[in-house]
Amino acid sequence: MPPYEDVIIVGGGPAGAYCAHELARNGIRAKLFDHSHPREKPCGGGVSKNAIEKFPFLEEFRSQGNTTSALRIISCTNKEAMVMNSSLGFNLSRQFLDEQILNMAMDAGAEHIKEKVINVERIDDLWQVKTAKRCFTSKIIVGADGINSLLRKRTIGKIDRKNLGLAYGYFVTGIEKIPTTLKFIAEIPGYIWLFPRAKSTCIGIGSELKYGIFLKRILDDFIHSKYPNVNVTSNYAAMLPWATDPNFFTKSRLSENCILIGDAAGFADPLTGEGILYALWSGKLAAEALAKNDLRLYDQLWKAQFGNYLQGRCKQRKQYFNPSFMEILVATQNLKTKVNLFKDKIHLPLRRAER
Ligand SMILES: Cc1cc2nc3c(=O)[nH]c(=O)nc-3n(C[C@H](O)[C@H](O)[C@H](O)COP(=O)(O)OP(=O)(O)OC[C@H]3O[C@@H](n4cnc5c(N)ncnc54)[C@H](O)[C@@H]3O)c2cc1C
Repeated sequence: MPPYEDVIIVGGGPAGAYCAHELARNGIRAKLFDHSHPREKPCGGGVSKNAIEKFPFLEEFRSQGNTTSALRIISCTNKEAMVMNSSLGFNLSRQFLDEQILNMAMDAGAEHIKEKVINVERIDDLWQVKTAKRCFTSKIIVGADGINSLLRKRTIGKIDRKNLGLAYGYFVTGIEKIPTTLKFIAEIPGYIWLFPRAKSTCIGIGSELKYGIFLKRILDDFIHSKYPNVNVTSNYAAMLPWATDPNFFTKSRLSENCILIGDAAGFADPLTGEGILYALWSGKLAAEALAKNDLRLYDQLWKAQFGNYLQGRCKQRKQYFNPSFMEILVATQNLKTKVNLFKDKIHLPLRRAER
């Protein structure tokens, strides 16, 4: 008999859907609330090699995306380096990726309730979840409802502004054959990305929330100078976890029988913004803690398995976003050798920073 029969998960992105999948494998049939599917999420859709190594099922989706066998790095002064590596990750549409993971969860036995949760309340040791049509109760609730998480606000509180990033960008067509590109910027700690996918390219720029007002201008200038003829199909602006305070990764993600995972927990790489890996990872660890009937185990697991690493990444921010740092790397004739040394990392400058 599983310890919990009545787990509710709010949010069916990668974190919630994968958590539901893992719970189902342990005999726990979660009710997964998400009104949004199918939908495209503002996201580069970059699935890193690390993510594929940790979650090999992702490899099955490669054929639907665009493999990042070449990574172009452009420094603040527009010097370029091309990194060829056939073992990097791939970029794909979030509509496709998220649907696949949701289908995996349902095939394993999770129940998808296609309704938006409009309120959550704690009543007599139970969580009461309201949608526009119905009301549900559950002993345990998993908050997988993304960066604007209702569950997070209701339990441990919103993510501080200093630990939030803002991204602005466009989905464009006409440049699907370009290499995956990262362009670093002197004005702000952040970068522009161009992630070509099968049918479109996601172009964006991300930085700390406080630099948000500069993003559109910097990105538009770049596109205008490099790709004046792209066909913009839509634009987006979205927040993401982007921690500047290393202590962010020492705090609990549990409260009152509520477990926060993925973006709701603030789990993304403080240098690159990579979040899909940590969404899946935290979803898996939450399911493991629930299956063992030990919620506190969740905090121990995420801190040990990736929290300390993300804290270390956070401490490297100054060095990573120092303009001269990238200039040196790009200018170094031995860049290719260095890349090969660290070819398992998309974000090669970091490894150097760690030394
Ligand atoms: C512009 C941008 C680019 C990015 N690029 C990359 C990248 O290339 N690679 C990478 O690894 N990461 C990237 N990220 C980060 C990545 O998108 C997130 O970390 C990841 O999607 C987190 O997954 P999640 O399941 O926690 O949240 P989400 O994917 O945000 O899913 C949350 C789900 O909860 C649902 N939800 C919310 N509220 C409710 C409610 N009240 N009731 C019911 N359902 C609800 C939403 O509909 C949504 O489906 C990017 C982020 C941004 C903003």
